[in-house]
Amino acid sequence: MTDYSELFGRRSPVTLPGAPDVMTSPAIAAVGQRWQCQRCGQLVAATDRLPNGDWYCRTCLQLGRLTSRDRLYTIPEPNCFARLMAGGLTWNGQLSSIQRQAARAVQKHALAGERQLLWAVTGAGKTEIVYPALAEALARGWRVAWVSPRVDVCLELAPRLRRDFAGVDQCVLYGGQPVPYRYCQLTICTTHQLLRFNRAFDWIIVDEVDAFPLATSPMLQVAIDRAQKTQGSCLYLTATPGERLQREIKRGKLAVTYLPLRYHGYLLPPIQLKISWRWRQQLQRGRLPAGLQRQFHLWWTARRPFLIFVPHVADLPVIMTVLMKMGLSDGATVHAADPKRQEKVQGFRDGEYRFLLTTTILERGVTFPRVAVAILGADDPVFSTAALVQIAGRVGRLASDPGGQVLAYCHSNARHVHRARAMIARLNRQGRRRGGRPC
Ligand SMILES: [Zn+2]
Repeated sequence: MTDYSELFGRRSPVTLPGAPDVMTSPAIAAVGQRWQCQRCGQLVAATDRLPNGDWYCRTCLQLGRLTSRDRLYTIPEPNCFARLMAGGLTWNGQLSSIQRQAARAVQKHALAGERQLLWAVTGAGKTEIVYPALAEALARGWRVAWVSPRVDVCLELAPRLRRDFAGVDQCVLYGGQPVPYRYCQLTICTTHQLLRFNRAFDWIIVDEVDAFPLATSPMLQVAIDRAQKTQGSCLYLTATPGERLQREIKRGKLAVTYLPLRYHGYLLPPIQLKISWRWRQQLQRGRLPAGLQRQFHLWWTARRPFLIFVPHVADLPVIMTVLMKMGLSDGATVHAADPKRQEKVQGFRDGEYRFLLTTTILERGVTFPRVAVAILGADDPVFSTAALVQIAGRVGRLASDPGGQVLAYCHSNARHVHRARAMIARLNRQGRRRGGRPC
């Protein structure tokens, strides 16, 4: 029997000969006087025409070019999965009692088909909190997607889910993935990849929902809605929900589960504000303020691994030169377009580097043991309140070392930094009420 599963719940520009129940539509459809792409939903600009007169969609070009000559094909999702024992869960770790309460709430909302948010502080163990609900969903034969706007988050998550749900067939999708698409019960992918799906998933878990570019992209919001079955639902995960989600909670349109404590029961490390006048001018003269130099030396000689966040990619080589002049060797710079990004991050984790100098790309989704953090130019607008809270959340994630410093060096009095400090203080007040210990 021919396998047509490649079209199940997909929005594919290629059909399979003889496939039954195929639904098809033009890839670029006329809407009034204009043309609209049926994959990404964006209107085609009047100038986006090929020499032969065909229209094409520029917005989702990276997923492969669609023109007005193409059609999209789909077979309605049939949930053709073998029945799984225990939902394929092979994880044998334990949840703490506070995690268990949250896990039960998430499961209840999921089974009721409710849109929901798990608002858990950085280091709360939110991935494992979702496990009981995920196991139940898979045991019921649901098709599930675990998605994130950040490819790093997907890449860190995929091996964990492969290990902890070893009984489930999984596929991982992102731009430039080495393995082709395959029909699986569990899909781990970037939010962009959801544009290729049509009413496929019974449940979508959206990890780091407030991260760029999802937070500012209506197209990706629509992609999540359309990749979901009409009866499906979704779960948003984040430590720092944006205003839109917070408004929906207030209006009662979104079920919410709070978890104000880290998995090890310690509170979040506070952000310490350090005023550092004119550090940029000093940098131009090839040096850093004395306080910073002292601090970096302290960490370096104590062999405490540390991350230095800076506002712009252009700052990286300049500051690195200064650090090397100070005698701080064995460090590396890393940024979004760095081809060796994955290797360097892994090298830092393995102790090969003593510090990393980086931009906001490492703000979330990564765990480094014993790390300390400095944010240079924390008052720069590239560091949003959420980004600062996430950066602070890199520190003290392990039970063996729950403390650690988060230092924000500012030239001016910045609203974002104060808001981030206030958010951490508020979460810690809630955490203390649940029995949290100061670190
Ligand atoms: Zn498009």
